[in-house]
Parts: sequence; structure tokens; C-alpha cells
Amino acid sequence: MPLTSNSEANDLPPTAVPTFPPTRHDALAQLDSFVSLAGDDYRSKRNYDFGPAKQRHVSQLSPYLRNGLISEAEVVSAVLRTHTYKDAEKFLQEVFWRVYWKGYLENRSYIWKDYREDLASLKIDAENDTPFHKAVSATTGIECLDTWSRELVETGYLHNHARMWFASIWVFTLRLPWQLGADFFLRHLLDGDPASNTLSWRWVAGLHTKGKTYLARPSNIARYTADRFETVSGLATQASPIDDSHPHHPAKYNEIPPPPSQLSQTEGLLVLDEDLRKHTPSLDSTSPVLGLYPERLYKDEDFSPKVARFRQACLRDTLDPLQSEHGCPIEHTTNPNADRIHEWATRHNLTTLYLANPQIGPWGDLWGTISPQLEERGIALSYFRPWWENELFAKATSGFFKFKKDIDQVADRMRTDDNSRDDGSS
Ligand SMILES: Cc1cc2nc3c(=O)[nH]c(=O)nc-3n(C[C@H](O)[C@H](O)[C@H](O)COP(=O)(O)OP(=O)(O)OC[C@H]3O[C@@H](n4cnc5c(N)ncnc54)[C@H](O)[C@@H]3O)c2cc1C
Repeated sequence: MPLTSNSEANDLPPTAVPTFPPTRHDALAQLDSFVSLAGDDYRSKRNYDFGPAKQRHVSQLSPYLRNGLISEAEVVSAVLRTHTYKDAEKFLQEVFWRVYWKGYLENRSYIWKDYREDLASLKIDAENDTPFHKAVSATTGIECLDTWSRELVETGYLHNHARMWFASIWVFTLRLPWQLGADFFLRHLLDGDPASNTLSWRWVAGLHTKGKTYLARPSNIARYTADRFETVSGLATQASPIDDSHPHHPAKYNEIPPPPSQLSQTEGLLVLDEDLRKHTPSLDSTSPVLGLYPERLYKDEDFSPKVARFRQACLRDTLDPLQSEHGCPIEHTTNPNADRIHEWATRHNLTTLYLANPQIGPWGDLWGTISPQLEERGIALSYFRPWWENELFAKATSGFFKFKKDIDQVADRMRTDDNSRDDGSS
């Protein structure tokens, strides 16, 4: 059976699906409606997975945070306007897990490289692997796993607990390679993130915290799904850590400056569909902007069309107002390559292009092929990342418990910075 999304689709009637309208307006509305729940309610009920369209105790902000339609700083700041840090600590820590994973992978890019190499050969073996095909087509006979598999493909979202159970059953009961499971998630999750996803799968498999694995237990599944899966049987009762055949290397942190406050006449901005954060607050009406949406990459990698459409729509939603409200000359390309970018830069007399540092992952790999060609043609490239990533990535070198020591100060600065802005939510 070919390894395409066709074998992952299923004939069952669709479940009620949560929708994630791809606009900043909707992201802010979602944040607004969740903020009051970020304290006690989240602390006591976040582990319950009531099923699609019934997730009342988690924020479901992840698709928006993933591509920067809203930023971590905006979420933290909104929560701290209603709660003290202590009251909302559990929720705030989860937001910072995202930053931690991202920094950890930036500092250890070899994990991504090893994963991609493993995946390439595992995908070939998986062509004829029946347990693998059953898992992705929701026909294993393990009711909960099949339900989550369908839910993932149909909605592009899974509750955190379902992700943990799913990954655990995949690795320890079905004994499938974690890399294939991570790939299945990455291609279907609207929040699919190379760092959070790859490293969470490794965490479940016992590759992140040495020797510590996550075992899905039937009683835990029954309890936290409000008895939707009362009698789960046949799950592994032990979870021995998976062997890691790859050598470990020391963490390597690279500092990257924050975004420029202004662009000169010979400078332009490239906006990647995966990082839409408002990096250049004082972008003026003469700054040319080119939106990059890698259609071919998503097709080649067999990303779900839902994910691809979501990313493209979010990019449009971010760039269109720059043109309509500020008059910036905006163009889009669905085929980012050196020729197209060079042609655009030359037409606008640009010698330097700014862009948010592409994340380790598919975009980082693609950019690694484009950037040397642009530099060869005399285009200077200037990368940036937000201040909190600079502050925290340097500390994302070992466990989260060491990392979390400083996050209250960063959270406080996010709140102060946001309060001092006059455009809070636009
Ligand atoms: C196997 C596995 C794969 C995962 N893959 C991804 C992924 O591809 N992309 C992704 O964003 N998250 C991933 N997660 C983390 C987590 O499951 C989701 O971020 C969370 O379920 C999103 O739902 P929410 O927005 O309602 O979260 P909430 O509980 O409301 O949390 C608020 C925000 O904090 C962040 N967050 C919460 N929990 C985590 C976590 N454990 N790790 C990192 N960030 C977190 C997310 O940005 C989330 O939107 C994965 C977890 C597991 C176990």
C-alpha cells in the first residue's frame, strides 16, 4: 500500500470537528474566551479529554501559536492581566514548554537530522507493514487508538493526553517506530511543530529523559476520557526505553538578534508562513514584503491539505492588512526559490532581506538550500527572533526543571512590554 494520505483517510462518518478559522481575529477571540479558565479550571481539569468539539478545559490555541498568528508573549500577557503568575502557573508553564522544546531542538539540530534520516528508510519498510497501515487507517481494533487516529486526520487536533496515550500505544503496544508516528502527527496536526512533536515523541519513548518512558494505562484512559473508553484491553503493561542508536552531541546555542525596529529603503522583509509574529512593528508603507508559502514542500512531504490550507490562509490574513492598512507593497509566492526571491529583490532594489530565523524542521531544511544561492548573488540575509527566545533558548540545554527557574521573570517582562504597547490586540 502506498504511503500517501489516501491510506490514512477513512470511510467512517466524520465526528463533530473543532474548527480553527485561520484569522488573527479568531485567534484573539479564542484567547479572550479562554483567559478566565487559565487558573483553577485549567489546573484541575486540563487532563480530561472529552472528545472533539468538547474541549472546554484547554485553550486549543496551539494551531495559532504554532505559526505565530498570536505570539507566546500575547498569550502570557493576556493571562497575567486576569490571573497572578501563581494562579495560572500550570497553564503558563505549558506555554513555556513550547519555547523550551523549540530552543532544545535549535541547540541540538542533529536530533532533527538523525530523525529525518531514520524516517527516510523506515518509510520504505513501512510500505508493506500491516500494523503501520492499520494504525494510520484507524483499523487496529484498539478502539481508543482508532478513535484518535480518525480524530487526528479529520480535525487536525488532539488533546495533549490523547497524544501521550496514542504515542505510548504506538511505541510500546504496537511496537512501531516512534519516527513513523511523529511523521503521521506532523503531517496532520494543524499545530504540527518539528520541535514540540519530535521531542514529545522522544520523551514518550524514553529518549529525552534517559530511562523515563510514558506508559498508557487503561484505568487512566477510562478516567480522563469520562469513560468514553471504559474497557481498553491488550495494552502493553511495561514500557522499556527504546535504544538510541545515534550518538549525543553537546548543545550549541546561537544568538540571533531581535527584529529590526525599522527597515531602510534597500531592505525588504520575507515572511514565512510558519512564523507570522508581528516582528517589525514600525514597518512603513514603503517596505516591500514577500510572503513565502512552500506549496511543493507540503505536497512532497504529504502534509494533510487541511494543514497546508490553514497555513496559507493564515499567511494571507497576516499580510493583507499590511497592504490595505499601511500600503506596503506585498507579494506572495507559492514556490519559494532563489530565482523568485532574487527577481523580487532586484525589482525593488533591495540588497538586504530580513526574515524570522527559519525553524529547525522542514522549513529550515528548505531554507538551507535557498539561502546560499541568494548570498552567492549578493543578497545579504539578516535573521531575527523575538527577545524571549534569545533569553530562553540559551537555557534550553538540559531538562525543563532547570529551564523553568527563570520563566516567571520572562513572563513578567512579556506582560510589561505588552501593556506598554498601544496596539495591544490589532
Ligand atoms: C506525542 C506528542 C506530540 C505533540 N506534538 C505537538 C505539536 O506538533 N505541536 C504542538 O504545538 N504541541 C505538540 N504537543 C504538545 C501538546 O500536546 C499540545 O501543544 C497541546 O495539546 C495543544 O493543545 P492546547 O492548545 O489546547 O493546549 P493547552 O493545554 O491549552 O496549552 C497552551 C499552549 O501551551 C503549549 N503547550 C501545551 N502543552 C505543551 C507541551 N506538552 N509541549 C509543548 N507545548 C505545549 C501549546 O502551544 C498550547 O497551545 C505534543 C504532545 C505529545 C505528547
